[in-house]
Amino acid sequence: MNNETLPPVDCAPWCRDGKGHRDAIKPVDQACMSEKHIIELTTEPMVSMSDGTTERQTVSVSLLRERGSRSTTLELSINDWPEVSLTTDEALGLRGILTDLFLTAVA
Ligand SMILES: [Zn+2]
Repeated sequence: MNNETLPPVDCAPWCRDGKGHRDAIKPVDQACMSEKHIIELTTEPMVSMSDGTTERQTVSVSLLRERGSRSTTLELSINDWPEVSLTTDEALGLRGILTDLFLTAVA
């Protein structure tokens, strides 16, 4: 068994770990992740859970920076399942489109 620990990485200011991921087993596990922002989807059908309860479907978004990378991506998940990774430029473009559509919808 390997008892060596990995050297800590410099965490992003928004990283949940914030301490360099010293308990990671593999270097690939030393990715910085932000808190997850979850939006419940009120117009989508409820989903049945294994315990018999039902839950709203969700979209969630968080930040990710892989170990050794200088760039951050926005990770979008549906029902906690990773679906798409956006660069910050792509996310900014999506933000503009969503804002424009929102303003059109409420006009
Ligand atoms: Zn980190």
